[in-house]
Amino acid sequence: MIRAMHDKEQTGDFSGQRGRMVQRDLKGRDITDPAVLTVMGRLGREEFVPKNYKSQAYSDCPLPIGCGQTISQPYIVALMTQELRLNRYCEVLEIGTGSGYQTAVLARLAKRIYTIERCRELSEGAQAVLGRLGFENIDFYIGDGSSGWAEKRTFDRIIVTAAVPSVPGPLVEQLGDGGLIVAPVGPAGVQELVVGTKKEGKIIERVVCDVRFVKLLGKYGFEE
Ligand code: SAH
Repeated sequence: MIRAMHDKEQTGDFSGQRGRMVQRDLKGRDITDPAVLTVMGRLGREEFVPKNYKSQAYSDCPLPIGCGQTISQPYIVALMTQELRLNRYCEVLEIGTGSGYQTAVLARLAKRIYTIERCRELSEGAQAVLGRLGFENIDFYIGDGSSGWAEKRTFDRIIVTAAVPSVPGPLVEQLGDGGLIVAPVGPAGVQELVVGTKKEGKIIERVVCDVRFVKLLGKYGFEE
């Protein structure tokens, strides 16, 4: 039995593991949004992790992706996506492309994703995978995402996938009125997952739970 599972992995059939991940780590906890569950039940996380970690692609933990960074654990990806309450009209700004896995989940649920990554190697890796998988609704930018998208504009949703000491001012500015921002806010080590709603130019914050993210480095993040 173990041998058979191993053979399946070798041939790239991860669907059994993916199904178990959805049942155990998402549905088994507090992920209830059917669209999030469907998308994560179809998307191959193994595509986004380095070759030597493919066999661990469906364990509910972060994994190294290069540049000293990690792909977020599936439950956290699901939780942040669920909190964003996406629809197919949403234009989303994502800070911290990383492996591109979270980007892919967002791109299946929203209209267009604008994603920023400071590490060139990671952005180019994500662009390659997402291109190969046929995604056409993603714009990539390599640079400091703490200052927001270079063009002056607003987004319906913003997601930050690295820890910030506080929600960066430029991101508050680029969130449209009535929009939502999800970010891990707090010191290096442990942060609170914050959902902010923009009302009349101000952000009203709600804390979801404690989380551990790598630091967002940059002008409005942590010092390099
Ligand atoms: N969502 C990603 C998580 C990546 S970890 C995934 O699931 O794979 C956080 C990412 O933020 C890292 O890739 C890191 O390089 C990036 N990052 C850190 N500071 C940044 C900044 N100022 N601008 C853009 N990306 C940044």
